[in-house]
Amino acid sequence: MKKPIYLFILLIGLFNAHISIAQKIFDTHIHGEKDVAYQLKKLKTAGVYKAAVSTSWQLQSTYQNTKDLTILQGLMLACPEGKVPYSGQYCFHDEKDFPDLAWVEQQIKGNKIDFIGEVLSQYYGISASDEALYPYYALAEKYGLPVGIHTGLAGPNHGSPNFKVGLGNPILFEDLLQKFPKLKVWIMHAGAPFIDDTIAIMSYYWNVYADISAISNPDIFPPNDFKYIMKRLIDAGLENRLMFGSDNGDIDKIIANVKDLDFLTEEQKDKIFHQNAEKFFTKSAN
Ligand SMILES: [Zn+2]
Repeated sequence: MKKPIYLFILLIGLFNAHISIAQKIFDTHIHGEKDVAYQLKKLKTAGVYKAAVSTSWQLQSTYQNTKDLTILQGLMLACPEGKVPYSGQYCFHDEKDFPDLAWVEQQIKGNKIDFIGEVLSQYYGISASDEALYPYYALAEKYGLPVGIHTGLAGPNHGSPNFKVGLGNPILFEDLLQKFPKLKVWIMHAGAPFIDDTIAIMSYYWNVYADISAISNPDIFPPNDFKYIMKRLIDAGLENRLMFGSDNGDIDKIIANVKDLDFLTEEQKDKIFHQNAEKFFTKSAN
């Protein structure tokens, strides 16, 4: 007669166990999707409590904080032919490649922008240290906002005619890092395959972080290559500056891929899943 009660208690126990093992995730790299509600629900179910979003300015406003998910608002630039790569939406309503500076400052003051990114310099055909970007970096430095810059390679059909592989090398960050020494910068996609250069830049410039989006996605990047890259970054002593990012890939598979890195301690995984990003995105007034 007591069996149903035992079963009930067992189920409650399993439910609690499930909650307690859910990994806390700060996703530093997501973009807009058509079905925003579905996208955010999937992230939340996977354990994401905070996410940095960058998309067209029009779509950006549909991403808002909820009780259990904090959204950090990005500002994409420079937009090739005015457009967000892949989606083809215009970045801004005036269809320009770069947003008006005074407008950007106004949005920052109104707490509408939490970070500058994804900076699309490689898609646009310019260096991350191109002077066209300097006024935006200056604003980010002034208001203590992080700047995330795309590096590495790209997927197919991005629609950006001036894209160049060589412009994805994080060694190109050096001029901007010297020009804006207080700027908080992160290397999106960890600079892969230019890992030597990622390590060189991050070893010398302690304010530079990296997200592991795309390379951690087993659907688009071989898990063995990801493992090799992570081992190199960890061996280089960078465990306090690597941040999780899903880049709209299958979040469950990506989390599992990171958890599968058997050379990482649980503490190191926690740093990568959320602690490093918390530190990096903490607002600092300059
Ligand atoms: Zn990117």
